[in-house]
Amino acid sequence: MPSFVFQPEIHSLPIAGRPERFPVRRIYCVGRNYVSHIREMKEADERDPPFFFQKPADALVQDGESVPYPAFTSDFQYEVELVVALGAVGRDVATEQAGDLIFGYAVGIDMTRRDRQREACQRGLAWEVGKSFDQSAPCSRLYPVSSVGHLRRGAITLAVNGAERQRGDLSQLIWNVPEIISKISQQYELKPGDLIYTGTPAGVGPVNSGDSIQCTVEGLGSLGVTIA
Ligand code: MN
Repeated sequence: MPSFVFQPEIHSLPIAGRPERFPVRRIYCVGRNYVSHIREMKEADERDPPFFFQKPADALVQDGESVPYPAFTSDFQYEVELVVALGAVGRDVATEQAGDLIFGYAVGIDMTRRDRQREACQRGLAWEVGKSFDQSAPCSRLYPVSSVGHLRRGAITLAVNGAERQRGDLSQLIWNVPEIISKISQQYELKPGDLIYTGTPAGVGPVNSGDSIQCTVEGLGSLGVTIA
């Protein structure tokens, strides 16, 4: 008879310049947060309030690892995003206090089954199948605020096989990081270990097996993964 007693796996990220790792509790993602990406998707009002979805913590993929091309899609796409890591509890947080919750920042990719996401949008279904699948959340090591400060502006880029596909600037976020934290905290109690993927600029597109993806956010290190 199988045992019901097992050690739950803690998913975590390395921290730049520190020996310990950052345990990840939840992964929140912001939908549509750069005007340039909303325009290329042609699907939303640019003044809509922000909305959020989640990926499971075990969807994390570490820097340098490979991402398997997933089942159930023929349009597997990248979205480079600034990731915010929280180090404190917060509920109904004011934007002026939101920065106090931030432990650090990272570079992430919101990997997406675009065909499944588009179907979900058209049919009014949930986004899970398009967004919240296994190994859909590559993320770099974390860079603590104590080392890099708070990021308000700076280039965010993604290249596939050395060719640049996405380039934006953090100053172009429709809802900035304090506003995102404040809004999510009205819907969920935020806790240490939560990550927030803050949305992607224009230039999203498909990848195939064998492709390598390199991402950067100015002021942080890079993130690289290969599609297996
Ligand atoms: Mn995204």
